[in-house]
Amino acid sequence: MIIPSNDKFTAEQLKEVETILKEFQCRVAPIPGDTMTIYAIHGDERNELMINRLEGLSYVSRVDTIQSPYKLMDLKSRLAGEDIKIGGRTLRKDLLIIAGQCTIDPKNPNFFLETAQAVKEAGGHVVRGGVWKPRTSPHSYQGSDKAIEILMDASAKTGLPVNTEVMDEHQLQIAVEAGAHMIQVGARNALNYSLLKKIGELTIKKGTLILLKRGMHMGTIDEFICAAEYIVSSGNRNVLLCPRGTVPGLDGYRCHPDESITPLLKMKTWSPVVVDPSHSVGRAVFVPHSALAAIAYGADGLCIETHVQPKNGIGDDPKQAITPDVLKKIISDATALFEMKKKYPMYAAKVV
Ligand code: PEP
Ligand code: MN
Repeated sequence: MIIPSNDKFTAEQLKEVETILKEFQCRVAPIPGDTMTIYAIHGDERNELMINRLEGLSYVSRVDTIQSPYKLMDLKSRLAGEDIKIGGRTLRKDLLIIAGQCTIDPKNPNFFLETAQAVKEAGGHVVRGGVWKPRTSPHSYQGSDKAIEILMDASAKTGLPVNTEVMDEHQLQIAVEAGAHMIQVGARNALNYSLLKKIGELTIKKGTLILLKRGMHMGTIDEFICAAEYIVSSGNRNVLLCPRGTVPGLDGYRCHPDESITPLLKMKTWSPVVVDPSHSVGRAVFVPHSALAAIAYGADGLCIETHVQPKNGIGDDPKQAITPDVLKKIISDATALFEMKKKYPMYAAKVV
């Protein structure tokens, strides 16, 4: 990656850099940040002559050639020093709570508006709501473009940022244009590299946060981090990693809880870890335990399905959504635990 001497290259400087890279069959992708734009090199960046020519330019500070399959996500990357913020929270420093319904029911929009308000009152920071749903059966409710209006209405009424999952480019475009503050990539699309690239490209200007779930069948930790690398190398560095349980599940749980990978992620990457206990254990009664375990393992946040009337919800809500009063207790205890955990520093470059 190329680190500029100033905060970013001018148009002429970028052109000159592109010309050099082209000679070596490489290309450049700018990744804007709060303090500076860094420039990812796509292609083999180890060519010594190419590095020397780039470093010979007066406006280039240095070229970092981290030998890692995820050189941008790597803890040693220049991006490790950048903050990711949403709803007045600075990730890694402040605990982040994302909560709300699995699925927005367009027939009962008031449920969602009430849930969003209750999430706010319980102390949540981002409201989640499924507009489009990846359902195992094609006969189950699949979501609807119309629900995006309910999602954005809830954001306007509560003043909280919102998160929703997209599964294809059409949905991505609608969500980005509507102004969704956080886009979720679900477990089923966690290795959909074309979608990950598109998300990076289409959200680059908006500074949207991306909540990348861990694939259900995902093997290694590196595979998970590499999936995030696709988004970052396409331009958007605001990626949060979300363990959500893997299959086969533990007998009695929906999945095999995997919050325990948090320290391993933090040893390798700077990206904040936001654990989803709801899909992991799959039953409301277990969610508080899994949520607090995630914080004990060093998670930076939680994404919890919550509904004002779970039994009248759709999708996963009747089974695994907690009520706002339980959410409030979890937030209170998770906040205390999160502060306590600061006594045991993790590897992340910027633990505060
Ligand atoms: C969800 O968040 O409702 C969801 C479908 O999650 P996952 O992709 O983790 O199954
Ligand atoms: Mn769900």
